[in-house]
Amino acid sequence: MLFNELALSAPILRAVQEEGYTTPTPIQIQSIPAVLKGGDLMAAAQTGTGKTAGFTLPILQRLMDSKAGEVKTRRQLRALILTPTRELAAQVHQAVLTYGKYTSLKSAVIFGGVGANPQINAIKKGLDILVATPGRLIDLIGQGFISLKEIEILVLDEADRMLDMGFLPDIKRILALLPKTRQNLLFSATFSAEIKALANTLLKSPALIEVARSNSTHEAITQKIHPVDKNKKQALLAHLIKANDWQQVLVFTRTKHGANKLVTQLEKDGITCMAIHGNKSQTARTKALADFKSGKITALVATDIAARGIDIDQLPHVVNYDLPNVSEDYVHRVGRTGRAGSNGIAISLVCIDELALLKDIEKLTKQTIPQEIISGFEVDPKIGIQPIKAARSVRHQAQQKNNPQARRQAKSQALKSRAGQKNNT
Ligand code: AMP
Repeated sequence: MLFNELALSAPILRAVQEEGYTTPTPIQIQSIPAVLKGGDLMAAAQTGTGKTAGFTLPILQRLMDSKAGEVKTRRQLRALILTPTRELAAQVHQAVLTYGKYTSLKSAVIFGGVGANPQINAIKKGLDILVATPGRLIDLIGQGFISLKEIEILVLDEADRMLDMGFLPDIKRILALLPKTRQNLLFSATFSAEIKALANTLLKSPALIEVARSNSTHEAITQKIHPVDKNKKQALLAHLIKANDWQQVLVFTRTKHGANKLVTQLEKDGITCMAIHGNKSQTARTKALADFKSGKITALVATDIAARGIDIDQLPHVVNYDLPNVSEDYVHRVGRTGRAGSNGIAISLVCIDELALLKDIEKLTKQTIPQEIISGFEVDPKIGIQPIKAARSVRHQAQQKNNPQARRQAKSQALKSRAGQKNNT
């Protein structure tokens, strides 16, 4: 199947061709005709499947079609795309601009964390399509800059993330402001009970599309484990980047502090890098992402939350510097590479402390990830499970006194402390 068999008009096809895409991805083959028909859609699709073009292209087409023949004195906002994160909003808007560049449709993106004035100015010029995060949208509706009365198409992108991030009340407030008759498109990587409940209230006889199981990792991704001691991880990462001449690598750490520390160490090794996490300002995050995309820096070190929705064309390497505490995050992290039609490599540096996490990940993804020891970084068999800071003093006592009760207490503290790290991303 080729794009030009999908009932898209010449201005849209021209933009798609300029991006170098000739064949639609599986989700696009299903979603484009479904959206063009005008009905509701519920799609299970992760980032990396081509889902953004899957809804953007037919929305542009529908807006172009419905505009023809209508004489409107003023542009009306007719399509609203909601995303959970600022980064995703910016990326989706970039897709709207790219695919819509030969149409006369106007669009804007709004999100929090930056000044509202440039966004308000863009809105005042008149819009057909708005990409927004829920908070800033409600803010600007409240201030009277946006009306949703003429919305014909609503998209909820990464709806599961939106609910995870606590946006359900905001979404409900927004839904209450929309016209009753409209087209609704819901995209979500997973389908929890909450998502199904939302879909039930939102969608009318939706077309259902599923392109990948939610917990499967992509075939185009080569996954590998390098067993290594914790204190040698940084040296191993620097070695891998230099020895393999990696030009663009996204590195995941479990904590913000860990991300900052790693950046400082990699810089000492002469590797250009930046961190992206929740303590960084929006300006710093945007700059880090732009420098990473343009190749100015080699490594981008991110926590899971900051990395949500990052879309980088054909990202070649992802490294799990720490394994995530939540196995599903492994699937999301690894999904940043091996994008539509290209191959990717996902490497995990795993120390003895993380073997239980690795087991959980392999169980979830139903695979055994191949292991490879890198020469010079062999695991020291004398190193046991490393004491977690909070447990150190009690554990020390236990070793001193050879006291089994204190040893049990130390072990339970270590487990609790590890579980607590979950909240520090
Ligand atoms: P998405 O799942 O929307 O985040 O898209 C993942 C990546 O695939 C993006 O970088 C797109 O530019 C790219 N892409 C989208 N459609 C196609 C296509 N038909 N062929 C090749 N790459 C595509």
